[in-house]
Amino acid sequence: MPTDSTTKSAFENFLKAACDRLGYSETIASLLSLAAMEVKVEIPIVRDNGELAIFTGYRVQHQSARGPCKGGLRYHPDVDLGEVRGLASLMTMKTALVNIPLGGGKGGIACDPRNLSSRELEVLTRKFVKRIHREIGPNSDIMAPDMGTNARVMGWIHSEYSAIYGHSPAAVTGKPIALGGSVGRESATGDGIGIVTRAYAKQRNIKLDGATAVIQGFGNVGINTAIAYRKLGIKVIAISDSRSAVYREEGIDIDALVKHKRERGSLADTKDHWNIEAGNLFKTACDFLVPAALGNAVTENNAGQISARAIIEGANGPLTCEADQILGERGVDVVPDILANAGGVIVSYFEWVQNLQREVWSEERVAAALERILGEAADRVFTRAATSGLDFRSAAFDIAVARVKDALEATGI
Ligand code: NAD
Repeated sequence: MPTDSTTKSAFENFLKAACDRLGYSETIASLLSLAAMEVKVEIPIVRDNGELAIFTGYRVQHQSARGPCKGGLRYHPDVDLGEVRGLASLMTMKTALVNIPLGGGKGGIACDPRNLSSRELEVLTRKFVKRIHREIGPNSDIMAPDMGTNARVMGWIHSEYSAIYGHSPAAVTGKPIALGGSVGRESATGDGIGIVTRAYAKQRNIKLDGATAVIQGFGNVGINTAIAYRKLGIKVIAISDSRSAVYREEGIDIDALVKHKRERGSLADTKDHWNIEAGNLFKTACDFLVPAALGNAVTENNAGQISARAIIEGANGPLTCEADQILGERGVDVVPDILANAGGVIVSYFEWVQNLQREVWSEERVAAALERILGEAADRVFTRAATSGLDFRSAAFDIAVARVKDALEATGI
């Protein structure tokens, strides 16, 4: 698998190409590429067996010209500064593309959460907040769940931050509902992928009822995409997680698979489903392929084997630059991450607004507002692509980069 720096270099390539198309100077391009602040902290914890272990954590604030930095916190063994930097920059473009008043940030701790007990995870999270609390907060940098973290982890962050600054629910989003979390946040990224896929299908005249999909990753994004697709009548025929992959020509029984995964922790030995080689997942013919796990999953080594009509980027940075180019040449549409998976940050924004205004929105209000904001962003991207002859990623980057540059200039630089 390519190194973490691939995420950053893919972003830099997309950014540079956008700056060239828009006629921006190299200085502006550098300014848009560099992170405003980066923090690295060492976090020692006593493991359950009494031994001391040291973990490294990061927080990168890429840009705040349009609003406080916003972005997830990832727990994964491959987390490092290069990866977090790349992901933080993507967040700046994502919030700009969907036009919400936030900037971009990202964080992570290099650890395998599957090998840590609940107590160890809680201690690690609370110590991380103790190390970085001066840098985060409702008006500066707001964390949210990402790979390996969830509402429970956000609850610990809320509790630790509030112990220092007083009750501050707006300091972190994706919290449990009981602590001021928003209805609809848990499923928001998958719901958003459903909204964007529907808009894409309309653009390309694809009938959704009976269309087929393949999903890589069966965590928050993978599961909620599968549920959203089922509601749209799309048949999900293959799904993988980090250990195994399953296939069912007639369409996977999503509820049964979620139950199986929750009970057994894996997709292996499921009733009525074929276990397939994970390497064959991308070769499965389908309308929509949704990579919803790690970055750089599609590279020059497997891009040629993909037999999907379109890739809907559920994960952040799932394609290397080379893969993006190969797929473009092969005529496979790519709906970019900064549009496809923006549902999560949009509902995080709603949660932040609710917390700041001491409001509680209904499920209907959240769903309608998500539909409006993401639907408008998708229409803008597809229209710009159609009128300018650009691919969807280039169209999306042009819109986002121009908005960030306008904000930077308005600040007086
Ligand atoms: P998660 O931890 O809930 O789930 C990740 C899933 O990926 C798990 O099922 C894991 O088994 C699987 N996985 C890991 N390595 C794999 C591999 N090599 N092959 C197949 N499956 C593999 O994480 P998540 O929150 O669903 O995030 C997934 C991706 O979506 C990440 O790139 C994340 O940055 C992005 N994303 C998440 C959100 C969100 O709201 N959670 C929002 C936008 C983007």
